[in-house]
Amino acid sequence: MPELPDKKAAFIDWYLAVVDAANLTDKRYGVKGANVWTPYGFLARRHLDEVMIREIEATGSSPVEFPALIPENEFAKEKEHIKGFDAQVYWVTKGGLSDLDMPLVLRPTSETAMYPIFALWVRSHRDLPLNVYQIVNTFRYETKTTRPFLRVREIHFFEEHTCQVDEAAADRRVRSNLDAFGRMAHAFALPYVAIRRPEWDKFPGAAYSIAFDIPVGAGRTLQIGSVHHYRENFSAPYGIRYEDVDGAQRLVHQTTFGLSERLIGAIVAVHGDAKGIAFPTAIAPYEVVVVPIPSAESGPGPETVAREIAERLVAHGRRAHLDSGDERPGAKYYRWELQGVPLRLEVGRREAAGRTATAVDRLGRKQTVALDTLERDIDRVLDEFDHALREKALAAYRDEFQIVTSLEELKGYAHVAIVAWCGSEECGHAIETAIDGGLLGTPETELPLSLEPPTACVVCRSSSGIRWAIAGRPL
Ligand SMILES: [Zn+2]
Repeated sequence: MPELPDKKAAFIDWYLAVVDAANLTDKRYGVKGANVWTPYGFLARRHLDEVMIREIEATGSSPVEFPALIPENEFAKEKEHIKGFDAQVYWVTKGGLSDLDMPLVLRPTSETAMYPIFALWVRSHRDLPLNVYQIVNTFRYETKTTRPFLRVREIHFFEEHTCQVDEAAADRRVRSNLDAFGRMAHAFALPYVAIRRPEWDKFPGAAYSIAFDIPVGAGRTLQIGSVHHYRENFSAPYGIRYEDVDGAQRLVHQTTFGLSERLIGAIVAVHGDAKGIAFPTAIAPYEVVVVPIPSAESGPGPETVAREIAERLVAHGRRAHLDSGDERPGAKYYRWELQGVPLRLEVGRREAAGRTATAVDRLGRKQTVALDTLERDIDRVLDEFDHALREKALAAYRDEFQIVTSLEELKGYAHVAIVAWCGSEECGHAIETAIDGGLLGTPETELPLSLEPPTACVVCRSSSGIRWAIAGRPL
């Protein structure tokens, strides 16, 4: 196994090498941007989905599944939306040997699949709110270089779509989504900032968009999810209206919430190091691996105790894996560290005799656990690991942001920049040109720096409408 490239000096090379080496995905499939989920990667994805499902259902959302094929006439109904997606869609124009009467779009996102049906489902104020989500594959013809999890053409996509009685109720749904994402990010141990996108960078068809971004070093950022308020922009063309208590017909206000497999890429990018990836417990395919260390004089002791540990942990509801293969223990340690397992339990002759195990977490912290108190100890050790992983990520996250007071400083800037901005599009674009990246927008959650109120726009020096904004170079 060759050494990994240096994460700091050559981030993308490191990322591609570590995803490959950890066997999360196989990118040798014959369609660019469409990757194969390996058994190990699939388990990580399933656990990611479980966190998303748990948190969104806790806010009163129900699962649905809509078809992947969308007729052209439905797809074309909202003009901003189609303008935004036109260059990215795959078309199905034939059925067998015949041309289809109506060409079909392979869903790039599901507004245009769902909303004609929402118009049938929503009749009265009693049908609202309608909060539904699905986790499906979507398809976008990406023209930029594809990268596993970060930029793909076949996307593992979580999308919530809701209909609300009015604008204020939809605003509250947006807030509820932001809170739900906060709980998901806690499970993923990912520090992030929620940022209201500028007008020119919102989702096609949205009234406003709030995205979640994380810094990934050297001033680069990664968008890991987004929430959108559509007002009546879709309900008008799709005719989604309801009879209010006063008998009047009103259009619903809509919201959406989108996440994807990019979260796995983010987990790799944030927690990975020179040894490989590091999974938070919630996502890890295996939370614990148990490695017996047999020796000539120890007899079957270590193997028996290791098996007992693995069985007890599985019965306790933990994802534990017994690695009793014939590789050397050192080679096993190396591989499980590379694959990001949170906790390794080593059982040698000394441990077997004393009915203990040596616990080494993915951050390299070592302690002895006793079989007498195994289940309780492992719960505690994994909690401590998640906490330490979160603290480590948070410390790195804090170091990535800096306040910038002139455009000159932005050139080749190696941090995520916090700038004072007057809100004008012209000044926004000047900031984007200077940093050779994007003005991500204005923060909706607290930044990791203590900030005085801003005084003058970094471009025009005006103080009217002044706010703090964030600029970076999106990956
Ligand atoms: Zn300005």
